[in-house]
Amino acid sequence: MSQKDKTDDSLYRREAKVYPRDVKGTFASLRKLAMVVLLGLYYIIPWINWAGHQSVLFDLASRKFYILGLTFWPQDFIFLTLMLIIAALSLFFVTAVAGRLWCGYACPQTVWTEVFLWLERLVEGDRNKRMKLDASPWNSNKVMRKTAKQVLWISFALWTGFTFVGFFTPIRELAYSVISFQLGPWETFWLLFYSFATYGNAGVLREQVCKYMCPYARFQSAMFDKDTLVIAYNEPRGEPRGGRRKSDVPTEKGLGDCISCTLCVQVCPTGIDIREGLQIECIACAACIDVCDQVMDKMGYDEGLISYTTEHRMSGKETHVLRPRIFVYSFLLLALTVGVLWSVNQRVLLRADLLRDRNALYRELSENRIENVYTLKLINMDFIPHQYRIEIVGNDDMVLFVSPEPKLEPEEVGNFILRMQAPESAGHGSVKVDVRFSTIEEPVIERTVSTRFLMPYD
Ligand code: SF4
Ligand code: SF4
Repeated sequence: MSQKDKTDDSLYRREAKVYPRDVKGTFASLRKLAMVVLLGLYYIIPWINWAGHQSVLFDLASRKFYILGLTFWPQDFIFLTLMLIIAALSLFFVTAVAGRLWCGYACPQTVWTEVFLWLERLVEGDRNKRMKLDASPWNSNKVMRKTAKQVLWISFALWTGFTFVGFFTPIRELAYSVISFQLGPWETFWLLFYSFATYGNAGVLREQVCKYMCPYARFQSAMFDKDTLVIAYNEPRGEPRGGRRKSDVPTEKGLGDCISCTLCVQVCPTGIDIREGLQIECIACAACIDVCDQVMDKMGYDEGLISYTTEHRMSGKETHVLRPRIFVYSFLLLALTVGVLWSVNQRVLLRADLLRDRNALYRELSENRIENVYTLKLINMDFIPHQYRIEIVGNDDMVLFVSPEPKLEPEEVGNFILRMQAPESAGHGSVKVDVRFSTIEEPVIERTVSTRFLMPYD
């Protein structure tokens, strides 16, 4: 079999390159605004300090997460889990109300693809020029433009990778390490890996990530119903489509309002034709709405041949924004958000763990006294230093001694030896003891911890 036959018989069809045309309009402006805000937050937030720390830093080495003035310790992992659940529920809620709003305006893939496309347009021009350049033979102009584009893409990808690592390593130290060529192996790996992922996904694969790789695109349809906002072509109004002069009256020519200009296909970042109906590839970016409205304006027709609508509205039925699933999502979201905010606010910024000395059950002292020894691990989760008062609650016969003096610097973890003593007459076997830890300084932070005190059985 010749090479040509082999190619013709291949089950793999080469993906046609999509050259999205630039578009202006209301939704394009909203998309750009979302892009500026989101990317601004991504690139600027790690450089802003809050309460003495980087405003968002997932410090894996010291196992502490700093988020907007709050410090989350490994013991606070439940809050992070709940925050992730809130994020997922928000996505479900927005999808149920407004369809793929996330995909079109806020998804990192969409946002970074927009930037890569913008850089490409900057160097190679808009759709027609890019198509012409790709089809032209290699010459100095093509080499120069392609090289310039790659330099911009790679620089932007590296900056993105650097910022990503800056969420896990203090970004100022990271910047110093980069410029002084002292980057560690893991930082180098993640910086290059994330840069490569950004370049590959947003620069090379683009719409193919949405079409073939994104799991959200697959399961979000389960959250859709006939009242969910979608972007759709008004087929009864638009068909039969066909070219005409502006002065023509469509009804006299037996035509609908679609003039078959194909601009809605040319602006589509996933390269689909919205006139063929709702498609899983549509990321609801609304570029086709903007461009079609402009065409309608030029032709003197009403805008909205392609519009945000619902399946119910398309079939002439009433659309209901408030429906049972919206109430369920709203209730869960509100309850969880209030619960997490309240619990974070009520957090006690002090941890105390008492671990019994395993080498001896108890020690018998003079004057019929019994002693138990514990290792005390104290964590000052506050941003200021503290000295602690440690006392036994509700057992006047018992006394305790701590060494060294329980003082901790901000966010310091300290280990101490705690000795508890009681007269033999205080009990038998294992006795429950409550130990209260409180700060000397006002406002008092306090926590009570229970442990067991072992005594002879007879
Ligand atoms: S942009 Fe509007 S008029 Fe032009 S082909 Fe698309 S739907 Fe038809
Ligand atoms: S069909 Fe329209 S809304 Fe959907 S991805 Fe294409 S341009 Fe965006």
